[in-house]
Amino acid sequence: MMMNKALLLLAAGMLLSCTNTDKAMVDDIDYVSRVNTLIGSDSKFNLSNGNTYPAIALPWGMNFWTPQTSNMGNGWIYAYDADKINGFKQTHQASNWLLDYGCFSLMPLTGELKTSEEERASWFSHKSEVAKPHYYSVYLADYDVTTEITPTERAVSFRFTFPDSDSSYILLDGFNKGSEVKIIPEERKIVGYSRYNSGSVPENFHNYFVAVFDKEFEYTSTWNGKQENRNKLQEEGNHVGAVVGFKTSRGERVHVKIASSFISPEQAELNLEREIGNKDFETIKKEGKEIWNSELSRIKVEGGTDAQLNTFYSSLYRALLFPRKFYEFDAQNKMVHYSPYNGEVLPGYMFTDNGFWDTFRAVFPFFTLMYPSLNSDIMKGLVNTYKESGWLPEWATPGHRNCMVGSNSASIIADSYLKGIRGYDIDLLYEALVKNVNGFNPFVPSVGRLGASYYNELGYIPYDVGINENAARTLEYAYADFCMAELAKELDRPEEEIQLFEQRSQNYKHLYDPENRLMRGKNEDGTFQSPFNPLKWGDAFTEGNSLHYTWSVFHDIEGLIQLMGGEKSFVQMLDTVFSMPPDFDCSYYGFPIHEIREMQIANMGNYAHGNQPIQHMTYLYNFAGEPWKTQQHVREVMDKLYLDTPDGYCGDEDNGQTSAWYVFSAMGFYPVCPGSGQYVMGAPLFKKTTLQLENGNIFEINAPDNSSENLYIKSGSLNRRAFNQNWLDQKTITNGGELFLEMDEVPNKKRGIKQEDKPFSMLLAN
Ligand code: CA
Repeated sequence: MMMNKALLLLAAGMLLSCTNTDKAMVDDIDYVSRVNTLIGSDSKFNLSNGNTYPAIALPWGMNFWTPQTSNMGNGWIYAYDADKINGFKQTHQASNWLLDYGCFSLMPLTGELKTSEEERASWFSHKSEVAKPHYYSVYLADYDVTTEITPTERAVSFRFTFPDSDSSYILLDGFNKGSEVKIIPEERKIVGYSRYNSGSVPENFHNYFVAVFDKEFEYTSTWNGKQENRNKLQEEGNHVGAVVGFKTSRGERVHVKIASSFISPEQAELNLEREIGNKDFETIKKEGKEIWNSELSRIKVEGGTDAQLNTFYSSLYRALLFPRKFYEFDAQNKMVHYSPYNGEVLPGYMFTDNGFWDTFRAVFPFFTLMYPSLNSDIMKGLVNTYKESGWLPEWATPGHRNCMVGSNSASIIADSYLKGIRGYDIDLLYEALVKNVNGFNPFVPSVGRLGASYYNELGYIPYDVGINENAARTLEYAYADFCMAELAKELDRPEEEIQLFEQRSQNYKHLYDPENRLMRGKNEDGTFQSPFNPLKWGDAFTEGNSLHYTWSVFHDIEGLIQLMGGEKSFVQMLDTVFSMPPDFDCSYYGFPIHEIREMQIANMGNYAHGNQPIQHMTYLYNFAGEPWKTQQHVREVMDKLYLDTPDGYCGDEDNGQTSAWYVFSAMGFYPVCPGSGQYVMGAPLFKKTTLQLENGNIFEINAPDNSSENLYIKSGSLNRRAFNQNWLDQKTITNGGELFLEMDEVPNKKRGIKQEDKPFSMLLAN
């Protein structure tokens, strides 16, 4: 008996210690250590492996920081193969094709003072560099100075470690297109502004900054253009900068805390006080790490390789950067924003720096699933955008830019509302969407619907009426009209209005060419464009060809299947995209644009995962009775086109979209049709995935025998009931529960093949 009791006690103790250990492990996982912010930075004009820069930032932060290896004005801010860094820049760049605004940089130097970007640049090595979201560190060899950076949403803390030197400097470059600097030695401060922009800002646009140093200045100078002026403390001009200097001893640390504001110099001071105040570098760093870990821990993946875990959390980091919080808190702690549309300072939310053509596909659906309250705030920002500019954005950075095609704000708004996210003026957003349906912004034609009158009258935008990329526009408007119809139903709009949108959502059929079994431009007289080359990029399509765009019928894949002559023919067309050679016709552009090159080199035929239009295509086998082909192709894309290395993407990452594809796909499902409320099944990458939802529920995806060989779903159960369907809906996930999948190395060709297993299509729903 005694012995039994002792054993029991021992067992109880072990149980207790196990539980404690498990809990400690859950709480202490350092997710952010998995993130490599350099992924995607090995990119150049004619080949993008991501076209990213290492954003040193908090999630959705108003300001990002980045080391700068190229001169101001070059969209490739940081190139992995560069040898030299010329500064550390506050950046708001959302795309290297649309460039930066409101930026300035800091650069430490020792010895001879050099102010120009070329002259001051210092050698550095990735071997003496740490690149994390909340912390960046690099050794600048020419000056023997280590720079460390840790950000908040609107401020930043710098720590420079200097050598023995009687001529140590920190330079602030206000950049061109209008800047001001003012050194205030008694306050150890530099204030000023940057007016740098790449268009779409109001006349009064300024980014006001304040930089506070913790060391007395023994040297000050300013420069204006190339003219350095030892005696002046203030400069204003096209391109000005300031230098402060001091003696330093080896290992001496100089700290600079900086904040900025789009509203006023006083607001910049407030932002600094509120976000940094007296907190030291280590405290800001620790808080930044906690913030990132708390966001990244919402999705816990287990049972993958180190490279897979690194890729997953690095992708998740990218998915949580844009759109940017473009609002601040005033002296009364009221939320206010500088309007990038009318230049006024107004109450409430504003988000910017986003291309909806990219992000409607997976980034915003990801927010609706994992960040519904953020999604609601973004909708409030859209309401303000409409109030301040008269239009919804399609590509804003910071104001409306004339870029890309489609009416994808409809998808983002409808998906949010239909998934039950509330708290914003949906009636006003609906009004804005209806305005889009009937016209476009004459000053920024990609805002609204260019070609709306043709589309509304003929059901398509003709190929021969001088509107470019007309087939892509038609297909995206038809999908937007599906979103309008669903939203109109939810809002109890009149029946004829709902019917009009439903009818227009079928407009994709006008462009279907039965002879080629593909979408094709159509002339005003109803004849197809001729000659027609399915391999021709651009022209009737946008950064893709007919083989890529034919699938842009997100809302009615069943309708497309029927047009193509049934499932067999549809699957054959899908297969062909992968199996054909990577041939292309680049005559529309005159040279192979980088997206073409990225397709060509991937050895996946004409499948072009490096650009967005085709990114849902791998999931379409689920609609045609061959879900295992989705499982196989999605795994191949994850394994082959996503790496945890500087060349780790296969094309432009684009505001989180290409990353969100990976995050969803690794979880085992993807939002093929935002607005339908569904996610289409792939197969998970990890043995275990745990979603910590905002409502407190937990949804687990368990696939314990998952491996690089066991990539096919053999059988499944959802909350312990047989799961054969090829989709999940939003509520199933947000209610919490468990999806259990038995994985196998051979496809189960009997699972997911029935009519009722198919994901949403309009044709099947009606
Ligand atoms: Ca793209």
